[in-house]
Amino acid sequence: AKAEGRGTWRFFETEMDARMQARRRLELDLRRALVEREFDLFYQPLVQIGTREITGFEALLRWRHPERGMVPPNEFIPLAEETGVIVPLGAWVIERACEEAAKWPEHISVAVNVSAVQFRTPGLVDVVTAALARWGLAGARLEIEITESIMLQDNVTTLGILRRLQRLGVRISMDDFGTGYSSLSYLRSFPFDKIKIDQSFIRDLTSQGGAQAIVSAISGLGRSLGMRTTAEGVETAEQLTQLRAEGCTEAQGYLFGRPMTGKEALELLSVQGPG
Ligand code: C2E
Ligand code: CA
Ligand code: CA
Ligand code: CA
Repeated sequence: AKAEGRGTWRFFETEMDARMQARRRLELDLRRALVEREFDLFYQPLVQIGTREITGFEALLRWRHPERGMVPPNEFIPLAEETGVIVPLGAWVIERACEEAAKWPEHISVAVNVSAVQFRTPGLVDVVTAALARWGLAGARLEIEITESIMLQDNVTTLGILRRLQRLGVRISMDDFGTGYSSLSYLRSFPFDKIKIDQSFIRDLTSQGGAQAIVSAISGLGRSLGMRTTAEGVETAEQLTQLRAEGCTEAQGYLFGRPMTGKEALELLSVQGPG
């Protein structure tokens, strides 16, 4: 039994080693990718539910890896957060998104995801201020999407940063609403501009179960608190019909457009025309 135990331990050790090495490699790869400009932003339209008019685009990060091809964000953002790479990477995202949005008509905004780690770095407000100034973008055309996990952290600091961003005119959206450590109290402690209803609820909207009641409740909550509500992951006309009935104000999903290149987003806007 002793020998077996030692063997197991050794196996465990090498397995740990391999995992640590893979992690270390990916971390170095991430840092290199930032220098080599392998990251790119894609843009997915957000539409007004009543009119189907585009109100803005969400910027979504992509990594064009020389060997692995297109790597989706879920595969590298967690490690980028753990290693701190998200700080320069996130700053690049804000800068790049503002540069792109500056090409769009004035009523079209850009939404950027900011992770919890990035949110807490002292430089965030400065990065946003500099990007808006550099590209001559009004603060109101930038939306920052944060998740519920941010509200778990030291409340005084979090609220302070949110207020400083709002003072720049920047809009604040609560992303993936209903999936995290949801607490309604933070909706009272901070005036978010928008609540994004997580796509898991939209997916189940037309089947039996609680999803419809939840979507209805969140839309109502948003309405009474003066916050817009965006449904994520809208794929079918049936879902859209239901969302309209529930009074949800905006939608995003494959039904309206997949994440696309900056060039494609510009083309889509030119088809839509002004206003
Ligand atoms: P998210 O912020 O919830 O973004 C929405 C995700 O849903 C995107 O996945 C989008 O491509 C996908 N999606 C949109 N419409 C539909 C639909 O109709 N059906 C389905 N099945 N999916 C849809 P993506 O681009 O893979 O991004 C995944 C997550 O990675 C994002 O989730 C966000 O949490 C994170 N992420 C992306 N870009 C950034 C970034 O620049 N910074 C940070 N911190 N996180 C990012
Ligand atoms: Ca988002
Ligand atoms: Ca989301
Ligand atoms: Ca999500």
